[in-house]
Amino acid sequence: MSRRILQPGEIEALDHHTSFPRVLPPQVGSLFTERAARLRQLAADNPIADYLEFAAHIANAQHLAAQALAAPAVDRSTMERAQTHGMPLFPAAELLDTQLQDWQQALEHILDTLSTQTESRLPEALQPLIAELRQLPGQERDTIARQLLGKDLAARYIGMAPFVMAALQVRFAQLAATLTEADMPQAEPATVCPVCASEPVASVIRIGGKASGHRYLHCGCCATEWHMVRVKCSHCASTKGINYQAIEGDQGVVQAETCAACGSYRKIVNQEKDPLAEPLADDLASLMLDLLMSETRFQRASANPLLYVAVAEEQPEQAAEGADALIDPLAPAAPSSSSH
Ligand SMILES: [Zn+2]
Ligand SMILES: [Zn+2]
Repeated sequence: MSRRILQPGEIEALDHHTSFPRVLPPQVGSLFTERAARLRQLAADNPIADYLEFAAHIANAQHLAAQALAAPAVDRSTMERAQTHGMPLFPAAELLDTQLQDWQQALEHILDTLSTQTESRLPEALQPLIAELRQLPGQERDTIARQLLGKDLAARYIGMAPFVMAALQVRFAQLAATLTEADMPQAEPATVCPVCASEPVASVIRIGGKASGHRYLHCGCCATEWHMVRVKCSHCASTKGINYQAIEGDQGVVQAETCAACGSYRKIVNQEKDPLAEPLADDLASLMLDLLMSETRFQRASANPLLYVAVAEEQPEQAAEGADALIDPLAPAAPSSSSH
């Protein structure tokens, strides 16, 4: 009997015969609290500790908003049409105009939490920014949201971006959580979210249950996770020339997965190395790896939704007033004396 090595395409075909989930819809009840806890844990001894604390505040406010607001009701016929054509079910930018016009309720809730609640109030240095966002007309907030989803954000809105993105994440995660694996099409391209068509923020090797040992891409918007074999590039789906880079002496929880075909990298977060690893939080906290990767020929495939550094660096003088602390994660987000 002759033996041979399975080719990448054959390995993928084998996947269909084993029973593990193809898609993992988000668990909204725990998504944001786990993310907040992980951000706080990773803040210890981290050069961007203040920014991670800021992101943890946001994640906590997201949790409260997700608990307080009912999940959005969506038109199932939109979904069925997409399923027929193997398209993402609810492309984020389209949904904003048609079925998710109430996303600003989540924004209001988050801003209330961050400005009023003693436990969750952001440091004083950031309060003017929140006040400014609260006073913006709804139409202008819609514009910011649309620009964010289109990855074309005007520089003057950069300081507000994390708050607007946070609200969108809440609504889209709530929506995605109402779906089941059976609802999800085998969408093309496989490198974008099958629910909201956004890009993954990172990928994660899961532990526990049937997903254990498998690699999933984690949507930066709705937090849906979808399976992709490790041998494939999460950006261009090439199976040639995938490599990994990590910081020397690091435990390897977060590595940069590089692709020779498209010249991009995206981080892969390994729960086998740390069970508490969370894709968005671990991606944000490993900014040092991005700095090192910036010295290589590989470009980051997609941004962290809570961080808009690259754009901001191009036009710092036009940034919204009070936004400086948010733009540069290497600068303290607020005086440490005012944090608690
Ligand atoms: Zn998504
Ligand atoms: Zn690639």
